[in-house]
Amino acid sequence: MHELGLCDALLRMVKDVAVKEELTSVQKITLEIGELSGVVPAYMSDCWTAVTDGTDYEETELVIETVPGIARCLDCEEEFRIDLNSMRCPFCKSDKLMPISGNDMTLREIEAS
Ligand SMILES: [Zn+2]
Repeated sequence: MHELGLCDALLRMVKDVAVKEELTSVQKITLEIGELSGVVPAYMSDCWTAVTDGTDYEETELVIETVPGIARCLDCEEEFRIDLNSMRCPFCKSDKLMPISGNDMTLREIEAS
């Protein structure tokens, strides 16, 4: 479970922005998690609660949006949403896939006062 480390990094990122922008409090952050990133959204929520416990960010709400995993097949050049169980092209069954979106995690928005 590497979500705890990710939340630590996320909290540091939010703190950096808060210091730079001179924010007094952060109400909400929006995180985009790609289906192919291997990050489990439910674990992120739990870990966020754990890492912010007792800090200035205890009340900061974590909103998670899932980004679908889209890939292009290198053999037939079709684009499709990846089936995480098979990881193959649904058209020609090739396993030579290139991820186009959904393979990372992005901090999209910070809402503060
Ligand atoms: Zn194909």
